[in-house]
Amino acid sequence: MDTHAFKRSLHNSERYNRRGFGRAEEVAESLEQAYQSGLIGTIRENNYKLSHGRLNIRLAEAFGFCWGVERAVAMAYETRKHYPEERLWITNEIIHNPSVNDHLREMDVQFIPVEQGVKDFSGISNGDVVILPAFGATVQEMQLLNERGCHIVDTTCPWVSKVWNTVEKHKKQIVTSIIHGKVKHEETLATSSFAGTYLVVLDLEEAQIVADYILGKGDRADFMQRFAKACSVGFDPDKDLVRLGVANQTTMLKSETEEIGRLFERTMLRKYGPMELNDHFLAFNTICDATQERQDAMFSLVDEPLDLMVVIGGFNSSNTTHLQEIAITRGIRSFHIDTPDRIDVNTNTVEHMPLSEALRTDEKFLPLGPVNVGITSGASTPDRVVEEVIGKLMQLSEK
Ligand code: SF4
Repeated sequence: MDTHAFKRSLHNSERYNRRGFGRAEEVAESLEQAYQSGLIGTIRENNYKLSHGRLNIRLAEAFGFCWGVERAVAMAYETRKHYPEERLWITNEIIHNPSVNDHLREMDVQFIPVEQGVKDFSGISNGDVVILPAFGATVQEMQLLNERGCHIVDTTCPWVSKVWNTVEKHKKQIVTSIIHGKVKHEETLATSSFAGTYLVVLDLEEAQIVADYILGKGDRADFMQRFAKACSVGFDPDKDLVRLGVANQTTMLKSETEEIGRLFERTMLRKYGPMELNDHFLAFNTICDATQERQDAMFSLVDEPLDLMVVIGGFNSSNTTHLQEIAITRGIRSFHIDTPDRIDVNTNTVEHMPLSEALRTDEKFLPLGPVNVGITSGASTPDRVVEEVIGKLMQLSEK
């Protein structure tokens, strides 16, 4: 399928909008009330520090809502204003943040139901308005909505669209896209829908398996079993790992994407030699600045003497989980929570999600005596949520 041509025709449709409705001023107050925080502004001005009795808070110097998310949320609010009566849907959580999604529900934005992992579009009819979230939608979903005569409001972050353009270029040049991402993440699903031949690798370890196979060190059956759900239909590792390009889910750790890129460059260099490298390897760094900034700020923060770290963001938010990983790697007692409600001030307990585990409740959350707490939040967490978490920490410190 010519996804590029489809996108071009969709962009020219009168039922498609990706620039908003010029109603920014009308929604500014609601957005400010729902998401912004005076306290966070003050902490920012105070060099990202706050002292409250025995409690010392250190905020990461970059955290929370990124440009792409702010844009997507504002567009969703504008859409409601622009279509006050129409049925309004969103194909997925607009971003991975429970409070933002709750606000949308209050505005009568309906989420497409999901049955056993499959979205059910049967309730959508001609004339309905459908918002595509910040991390995009698959080309098949766009086609379906277009054919059904819906108005599409596309809030896909331009950084994500840039990755789609990259895999489309790979497709045109008959290059296999190696996508660094999580197979089931909506952004990776969307990106792979625009790709031709592709293989998704989760991390450096999986990339190494692919590199070894290229150099003749793998077993075909094992390879196919491992990547069965992570590749394009008909993928053949003996034919499709000859010309490679790298792309990523924009919220993966940049350092890891870069390492994966270097690994494949070295691998193709070994296999084909320097004269032919350009025919076999196409590098492209598609990671967004926001993710990088949050990661860099986190690396600086964990150099501080911290007693504990609180990482705030949706549990299915990839970039938040990666921030948590950085704290864990440094051996810092770190808690990933999605809402302030996870902290119980009465019992000094916290319900949190340890890396790759189920929700767990820990006691003695805030230790006794002077305590240094580091705080950061993922790109989809509003300042207002961070403020509420700090408020709870303050209350605990007063006990
Ligand atoms: S994290 Fe990056 S890619 Fe994702 S919405 Fe924000 S700016 Fe866009």
